[in-house]
Amino acid sequence: MKKPIIGITGAYVKHNQHMEGVYIHQDYHKAVAANGGIPIILPFTTPETNKEMLQLCDGIILSGGEDVDPQFYSQDPHLHLGATIPERDLVEMETVKYVLENNIPLLAICRGIQILNVALGGTLIQDIPSQVTEPIQHSQLVDRGRDTHWVTISKESKLYQIFGSEKIRVNSLHHQAIDKVSDELRVVARSADGIVEAVEYIHPTTFTVGVQWHPESMTSTNVLMNQLFSEFIKSSTKVLN
Ligand code: MN
Repeated sequence: MKKPIIGITGAYVKHNQHMEGVYIHQDYHKAVAANGGIPIILPFTTPETNKEMLQLCDGIILSGGEDVDPQFYSQDPHLHLGATIPERDLVEMETVKYVLENNIPLLAICRGIQILNVALGGTLIQDIPSQVTEPIQHSQLVDRGRDTHWVTISKESKLYQIFGSEKIRVNSLHHQAIDKVSDELRVVARSADGIVEAVEYIHPTTFTVGVQWHPESMTSTNVLMNQLFSEFIKSSTKVLN
């Protein structure tokens, strides 16, 4: 059977004038390859070229990166907003619409769950430490692959079917999170302080899941995160038929 092609949206990094361009952490493409998919990196580019790239893909991962520009949910920047790239936001919001319209499986990770929510009309908490009362630590200082906090998974969810557990351990490398949830998404996991840690599309026709943690960096230590990737990639395989 042909392996599905999984497009992973790229971030932009500039080291110097000779090293400037598309970037993803290697954990993304390693996790895809280890769980049965063919990873390709999608640079953010014009909406036209983006659509042509998406047409090559059987599944899409929205990867992590910069903060989403708050102009896209009608807010001004908070004092602790991080770096933004509005051009990437625009292209990824188009990507969200394209995958939902075309029933392409989507795994939205970290910034990905945030852009998914914003693309569908939701808003974000711009900075958890200064805008949430008594938050837990969501910006862990230990290795990115280590699990640092609990999340509670809703029993009525695809994630519960995959994990088989209402309490799981996750890593946490974010200072933003979903605030107002899009009408088209359902919260399926929260941390103890109430922060949204996972969502699913309210009318799923295929795999459409967003997680606030980084499962791609936990696959060497946590079998559940391989199950998440393998279910996503299995759904992408079905699209091929
Ligand atoms: Mn977290």
